[in-house]
Amino acid sequence: MIQDIAPHVFDNTYQIIPPRNDDYALCIRKSEVILIGRDPAAAPEPVPSADPETGVLGIPMFSEIRTVFPHAGERAVYLFAIDEKRYFLIDIREEENPVLPEGGRFLWKGSKFLRAMDPQYEAFAAITAVQLARWRESRRFCGHCGTPLEDSLKERALVCPKCGQTEYPKISPAIIVAVTDGDRLLMTRYRGRSYKSYALVAGFVEIGETFEDTVHREVMEETGLKVKNIRYYESQPWGFSDTEMVGFFAELDGDDRITLEEDELSEAGWYTRDEIPDDWRMTSISAKLRMAFKYGEKRVAKENG
Ligand SMILES: [Zn+2]
Repeated sequence: MIQDIAPHVFDNTYQIIPPRNDDYALCIRKSEVILIGRDPAAAPEPVPSADPETGVLGIPMFSEIRTVFPHAGERAVYLFAIDEKRYFLIDIREEENPVLPEGGRFLWKGSKFLRAMDPQYEAFAAITAVQLARWRESRRFCGHCGTPLEDSLKERALVCPKCGQTEYPKISPAIIVAVTDGDRLLMTRYRGRSYKSYALVAGFVEIGETFEDTVHREVMEETGLKVKNIRYYESQPWGFSDTEMVGFFAELDGDDRITLEEDELSEAGWYTRDEIPDDWRMTSISAKLRMAFKYGEKRVAKENG
């Protein structure tokens, strides 16, 4: 999955430190990140997705980004490290509308590109940084008294210097569930979303619910089905939607007739193992649950290293 970056190690220890020239700069505007094209031969590890025109797109270092933003270091906020590589955020406000040099090595890239970017630890760094940038952008002012918020000195939080209101990064718990009935898996497709391939029942945890309550409610709301024997599988930070996905298996309880939630889903049905498309990249927990059902959890665990 997107966070499975071993042997690389993600270190999210909170620190307030200034950047050095060889640290990495994540310049983010809305959900887009500035990447730099490099010679594939100079990539830190072999990259299968090298583009013949732009080379390998990667996260620029401060020594590189300063050619576009000379003062990038002055407003950089330390985010986290992966191995010895330290990543900083440079929040680009919409009103700044920076123009990157024509035909240059720098490009804005959005979440669709980041999702499939190599190496995966850089993709994970960029996606997690976009999540933090979106949170900071939406918490510029105190919701209680309107004062501009400041970085906490002791933890990853924004604090109001006037009234003390504290805002933590936005992480919303959500469940995703593979509902099974013998050799069949319940899969869905969403209406009006760009993501057209198969999905599983999923949804945000509501107030007052356990994860299991959410599983029961979401399966009932989306498909009209009852489930039993809910079993935790794995979880996944999914920065694209500020979500912590909590994955489960569950078994159909009783009638298998689906009543579709028409305004959200365009399709839902029972599929045998043979009918489930392969997705060995397993970026998402959704794909991993589907592959775990199709091929068994042991095989999937092995494929995942
Ligand atoms: Zn306040």
